[in-house]
Amino acid sequence: MSNEELLTTMFAVHGKRPMDAQFNEYLKILDRLGNEKSRKLFKHVRDEEDKFPTIKQVWGIINSMGLINKEQSQLKSYDDCYFCGGIGYVPRLISPKQEKTIKSYTTVVYACKCSAGQDLPKSYVRYFDVFDDLQFKEVKEGANYPQLVNQLQIQYSNELHKENKNVKKTIKGRSSQHTEELGTSELAKEIDTITGINTENED
Ligand SMILES: [Zn+2]
Repeated sequence: MSNEELLTTMFAVHGKRPMDAQFNEYLKILDRLGNEKSRKLFKHVRDEEDKFPTIKQVWGIINSMGLINKEQSQLKSYDDCYFCGGIGYVPRLISPKQEKTIKSYTTVVYACKCSAGQDLPKSYVRYFDVFDDLQFKEVKEGANYPQLVNQLQIQYSNELHKENKNVKKTIKGRSSQHTEELGTSELAKEIDTITGINTENED
């Protein structure tokens, strides 16, 4: 698939029909990535993102997947920064449990406190203006923070998919018995336990 075809499909799987100008803006990003990396981006957007990402979010995704390095991003050369990988965007994972308008884990990006982040337009909220600390404190060797968040997003999404399947089975099994008492609150609790982002990682 060419970048153009990839992008058309990417819009289509999210039920979107883009305006020409909008399409071209996204296409510029894909062309800059090259076809191979664009495919990876496409797969991520198709499988992991609930809503079609904004341009801002696309850059966050590209960054968290490690698809672009500083040279390719054509930014000034910045010092390596753990929080943003030197690109300026710090992701935050949003859980569908907390944000009822989404159905799967998704990320939003904020501006980093390093020079790369400070160079981003004012429209990007500064991560550390809003949050005292990182959402996830754990450190994975060889991974910067956006890459860690990306890994966790995939991990939590998989757990959520699995759990949703189990719940369906449970409901089916229980409906033949006394459904009323083994109600949804109990199930909800189970889901919370398994799919919830660990509370100690939260603010
Ligand atoms: Zn940074």
